[in-house]
Amino acid sequence: MKKLFIDFDMCLKCSNCDVKCSYFLHPKNNGITSLREEIAFLFACRRCENHPCINVCPTSALKRENGINKRSRFLCISCKSCMLACPFGTIISDIIPYITGKCDLCIGRLKEGEIPLCVITSKCGAIKFIEEEEIEEKEDLYKIGENLIVKCFNYLEKYGLKK
Ligand code: SF4
Ligand code: SF4
Repeated sequence: MKKLFIDFDMCLKCSNCDVKCSYFLHPKNNGITSLREEIAFLFACRRCENHPCINVCPTSALKRENGINKRSRFLCISCKSCMLACPFGTIISDIIPYITGKCDLCIGRLKEGEIPLCVITSKCGAIKFIEEEEIEEKEDLYKIGENLIVKCFNYLEKYGLKK
């Protein structure tokens, strides 16, 4: 079964993501943003014990759940204080928008035999809809749920920080 594949390392080098998303309620906040936020907290965040990002948040939107930071999209006012407080650059500006579109992996389009809109409109090649065995990259691959595979430099593993 084909899965959504995101080369997050490639994503990080680009500041001009203009993929389109089929989530029609907030067309300027594409669902890929919410996936990028999840990936950043899973693999780029160093899970600091004193978590300055959480401490600085004025609305208590950031919390640590099962060792991983989570942002409440209802509480977050997108003030970017957490971005400034993070010493590692984990939280980049565009992954913490005030209004967030949610990725449903284009379930409706898949039922109609179409592929996700972000894949069609991605010009950089960082997003693919692909069989797992066809993924050319062989290192730093991680599965998130049943339908998403990410290529990502895993700071926790690489630097022996696994928590
Ligand atoms: S951007 Fe959101 S999560 Fe970050 S400090 Fe501000 S309110 Fe909290
Ligand atoms: S300050 Fe940065 S690296 Fe530390 S827990 Fe917060 S987001 Fe993660």
